[in-house]
Amino acid sequence: MTKVLISDSIHPKFINKLEEIGIQVDYEPNVKNDRLFEIIPDYDGLVVRSRTKVTKELIEQGLKLKVIGRAGVGLDNIDVTYANDKGIIVVNTPEAPTTSVAELVIGLMISVIRHIPLADSSMKEGKWIKSKLTGHELKDKTLGIIGFGRVGSKVARMASAIGMSILFFDPYVSDEYSENLVAKRVNLETLLKCSDVVTLHVPLTSETYHMIGRSELNTMKKSAILINTSRGAVIDQIALVESLRSGEISGAGLDVYSNEPPKDLELINLPNVICTPHIGSETLETKERIATLLAEKVMEILV
Ligand code: NAD
Repeated sequence: MTKVLISDSIHPKFINKLEEIGIQVDYEPNVKNDRLFEIIPDYDGLVVRSRTKVTKELIEQGLKLKVIGRAGVGLDNIDVTYANDKGIIVVNTPEAPTTSVAELVIGLMISVIRHIPLADSSMKEGKWIKSKLTGHELKDKTLGIIGFGRVGSKVARMASAIGMSILFFDPYVSDEYSENLVAKRVNLETLLKCSDVVTLHVPLTSETYHMIGRSELNTMKKSAILINTSRGAVIDQIALVESLRSGEISGAGLDVYSNEPPKDLELINLPNVICTPHIGSETLETKERIATLLAEKVMEILV
């Protein structure tokens, strides 16, 4: 009988899908390392999130392993190269959180330009500061999207439904890929100069590390806002604090930070910054989608 071990927590849909087709699933979300090493030789598949470290040593013990599934995106806790050398396929679900992250981007944009958190907190303090809360509409404004992959292109579709014009910068996507979307390809400088809202959707690489620094922030409109739901280190956080303090840009909506959770609260406490604690993919729908997609990918290899 084919056996799969789940060593971190996962939505029950994953287990149901595998059991439906006769795979034995053992769910041990808090398994200790010693026990994991002891039982792994019995399993054809191992499914983890970020807690379990799938090291070379663990993979060596997994003599029957054919697949390692990562519920979520990052693969930093898995020795993928070694697994592949051993003929073990590693699968993950980077497509699962796309809608949730894109919807959070729209939420952050509206929260910043309509001052929703301040409106709420002032009312809870018994204040009625209506005239101080004049905001803007997004309709007819320009959105600049840096990184036009899954999340970036989803944000483009949502924002164009609101009536925004879309610019994007992504040297790695083809014209065919973007031609059906109402988005115009420009270089980074043009995007920064022309956008009312700039949103980041790139992976963190040596090329994107601090890609938004002092000079890029200075290039943006003074009235512009910056949204980041990608990775904190894509922005030079010190330069961002300076720009927000000096009015080089007007506001920011942030879900990700250079250090998480951030210890230095200088950026967080600025009145023109709205923050969420890395909740881009924190929805029930994403959890369910991860379970369903991962089950399909694992079953494809085991059946
Ligand atoms: P993706 O791989 O589909 O898209 C990334 C895009 O960035 C690609 O089109 C790529 O060509 C482009 N890119 C790479 N280097 C670039 C550069 N130097 N300049 C411009 N474009 C560049 O990834 P995705 O699924 O859209 O995710 C985007 C980001 O969102 C990632 O950083 C991911 O880690 C992050 N994310 C955050 C959350 C959250 O909870 N906040 C959840 C999921 C993903």
